[in-house]
Amino acid sequence: MAAKRDFRRFTRGLRFRLTASYALIFALLLIGVAALVRERLAASLDNQVHEVLNQEWAAMKGYLRIERNRRTGKVEPYWYYDREDPDESLIVRRIQRVYLATDADGNVLESSTAYQDIGVDPPSVVQERVREATPKKGSTAMASAAPETGGKVFWTEKRDPQGAPYLIRSSIVWDEGHHAPYYVAIGMALSDNRGILRDFTAPLYEMVIPAALILGSLLGWFMAGRALAPVLGVARTAQRISGSNLSLRIPTRQAGDELDYLILTFNRMIERLEASFQQMKQFSADVSHELRTPITGIRGQLEVALFTAKSTEQYREAMFNALQDIDRLSQIVRALLLLSQAESGQLVLQKSHVDLSQLVQELVEQFQIPAEAAAVQLTADLPPSCSAYVDRVQIERMLTNLLSNGIKFTPEGGSVRISLQSFPERIEMVVEDTGCGIPTEHLPHIFDRFYRVPGTGTAPSPEQGLGLGLSFVDWIVRAHRGKIHVDSTPGAGTRFTIKLPPGSASLDTVELSGQSAAL
Ligand code: ADP
Repeated sequence: MAAKRDFRRFTRGLRFRLTASYALIFALLLIGVAALVRERLAASLDNQVHEVLNQEWAAMKGYLRIERNRRTGKVEPYWYYDREDPDESLIVRRIQRVYLATDADGNVLESSTAYQDIGVDPPSVVQERVREATPKKGSTAMASAAPETGGKVFWTEKRDPQGAPYLIRSSIVWDEGHHAPYYVAIGMALSDNRGILRDFTAPLYEMVIPAALILGSLLGWFMAGRALAPVLGVARTAQRISGSNLSLRIPTRQAGDELDYLILTFNRMIERLEASFQQMKQFSADVSHELRTPITGIRGQLEVALFTAKSTEQYREAMFNALQDIDRLSQIVRALLLLSQAESGQLVLQKSHVDLSQLVQELVEQFQIPAEAAAVQLTADLPPSCSAYVDRVQIERMLTNLLSNGIKFTPEGGSVRISLQSFPERIEMVVEDTGCGIPTEHLPHIFDRFYRVPGTGTAPSPEQGLGLGLSFVDWIVRAHRGKIHVDSTPGAGTRFTIKLPPGSASLDTVELSGQSAAL
């Protein structure tokens, strides 16, 4: 059973199938070439026999006379040649080997034993051929008839009782005086030709083609193995790759071929996987760290209440602090839930036509109170109206994050300004402040989850952000097929520029790849 399965797997393998198709094509090609050569050889041998028979016919016409026997008065064939001349004798003997002469009715005048063996042409056939070969008086057939025969030539193939083939050339011959046509046939054994053909094809089919096929298959097997070796290498490396050793890469062969391209693509895929894995690890580490802080806080507060609090006031204070930590916990959990929904594409944008000028104006009014509390001047520079096809709630969330960051990171006396501009191809929103700024080395990370620039806040406190706000901003911008860009000068201020496509951007959900979209 297992052997059968192994065999099936083997025959389904690419190497086997490549070799098999290669061998099949090779075999078909060889057989085709052999058949073609055999065909050409047979045709050329056939031509040769026809040629020899034509020559013998011409010679026969020189030596054979059909005359009336003066003594008997019967018409008989006579062979006129120098019997002393060995060449002439040989030629005549050769012609006479397979030879038949009859009158127009098919009555045999003379025939060789060999011809009798292969069968004398029946009178009906002879009569038919004589009729066909004899030109009708006054007809043009006379002119078109073969000059050396004076009549149509018939080529037939016959077999002797042993099955040996003969080619027969027959036509009419006129008697001396041109009184009546007679039927004469001469022939030649084809067995020699068939032998030559057999001698040619037998070793070809029995030895050369099988040997070439075996050799070709071995070569094909070897070449397919060589060509597929890197693929197996890729598979082996891929097998070794797991979550813990994503740093493995398959070395390219520097051949610049399709396989190198495959390896390169594969390596890039692992690279991306590794980055995602790394991010996931970092994320879970961050999440547990973020969750641990309020949990530790709650534990501390409860312990205080349990072991050291004496008065109701002290109990109340511990409870109040614990509640604040719980608030922060649920804030984190809510934000994480939302982010993971956005990430998995479950958060679908609910787009509608929104007047962004009005929306920003309302937000700015809402933020006047916290701005005043922080002694920060909040201003807006808006066109009378700016229509966009966006998700109102998400755009509000985005601007809320940017405005609250601006107010939070701007010292007293500073200012935060939001402006809106509409261009034919984009809508541009700018939120800028005169706050503490972000050092250049932190800029690439501010859109990462839980990332907070060190120094802008000490230990996490309820007032401090979660480090998730800009991750949302980033997702919202990308979900709207827009771009966000941040410029910042430490000590001078920060400017976020958002470019949104004005019309109905087609995609309503965008997967968060986790990669920062800071542009
Ligand atoms: P948080 O909730 O902590 O504000 P964000 O994701 O919104 O988290 O921001 C990430 C970090 O980027 C902040 O902790 C802060 O260090 C920095 N940051 C964001 N906006 C500003 C700003 N306008 N000025 C200075 N720093 C900023």
